Amino acid sequence: MGFADPVDGPYAAPVSRHGFIVGPLLLWFAAQARDLPWRRTRDPYALWVSEVMLQQTQVTTVIPYWKRWMREWPDVPALAGAPLERVLKLWEGLGYYRRARNLHRAAGVLVAEREGRFPRSFEDVLALPGVGRYTAGAICSLAYNQPTPAVDGNVTRVLARVLGLRQSVQRPATQRRLWSVAAELAEAARGWRSPGSWGAARGWRKRRVKERPCGALNEALMELGALVCVPQHPRCELCPLRKACVAHRLGLTRQLPVKDRSERTSERREYVFVCERRGHWLVRQRPAGVVNEHLWEFPGLEQDGYASALAAARALLGPAVREVRPWMTVRQSITRHRYILAVCRVQLGRGERMVLSEGRWLSRAACEERAFSAGHRKILQRLNEGGAG
Ligand code: SF4
Repeated sequence: MGFADPVDGPYAAPVSRHGFIVGPLLLWFAAQARDLPWRRTRDPYALWVSEVMLQQTQVTTVIPYWKRWMREWPDVPALAGAPLERVLKLWEGLGYYRRARNLHRAAGVLVAEREGRFPRSFEDVLALPGVGRYTAGAICSLAYNQPTPAVDGNVTRVLARVLGLRQSVQRPATQRRLWSVAAELAEAARGWRSPGSWGAARGWRKRRVKERPCGALNEALMELGALVCVPQHPRCELCPLRKACVAHRLGLTRQLPVKDRSERTSERREYVFVCERRGHWLVRQRPAGVVNEHLWEFPGLEQDGYASALAAARALLGPAVREVRPWMTVRQSITRHRYILAVCRVQLGRGERMVLSEGRWLSRAACEERAFSAGHRKILQRLNEGGAG
């Protein structure tokens, strides 16, 4: 790696000092790594599930979901044989349901094409539905100790600061540089020799670093970003990389990493209608090809174009609608959209047909067995608590 990369300007770090970075990082990880349940396994399936769950989701949230998942589907064939409805239900609350659908689909592919065995090569892992370069790199390094880099948001922040990158980390050229440095670090970890003294390192952490240094290197970078090199106020005094870190040396930790301005979020307002008939709720399943596909919800529509909630309810549900009363407001975020749901209780006329063809009347117990999006789950909870109608 050269020093005069025009992407980085005069602050580019001497990254040829890999030994200097890799050694302290691995020793730090061997002493400080959090004891997370998936860190004690080298089963690629279990690691795959954890990596997919950890995308966009906090570690503390993921732990109980991962444990439940592994109890219910301990291997690829078990997952492939599960009904999608059940998979979505277990995922309920984690958001970004496409991840669960892809896990399920990929398990089906592995059973059909590989007798349920998880592949070993990076290219074959990368070919699985929903698996990108980061996830494939993480799995191959963690399970098989291959020197495959895995650059996520935490790793990006750490490396951008250590290297002193002053260009936006979203630029393709900067991304290429980050992946290239991460690959060199993983390769350097493969050739790393255990030190005479392990300091505070012991137990499973030490074993993990000794047996799988490439995976430990990737995890150490992620862990450093999660615990020490945090976005605001990095704890440089505790960092094993501070002697090599350009941002620390030049006082640039607040400025780095540089990011383009993020996409603006949009706000959407919807009516949601709660109809009850003899202890059953009117719900529907979202179709394929839309956000939150296959999840269940109470019927609703965008507020734009309707003079009132009553007009919207009649447009959606037909002339059976007698009365519409505002009940509660629910907010939920899906990707960059913010939804504000004006939830209304609907009084229906007796004996009149409902025009919502995809609607189903389900009991409370039947609703509990199905996966609802986060916002509609809140409505269901309120109904179950006996919220005033
Ligand atoms: S020294 Fe500070 S800025 Fe540099 S990697 Fe460590 S925590 Fe991050």
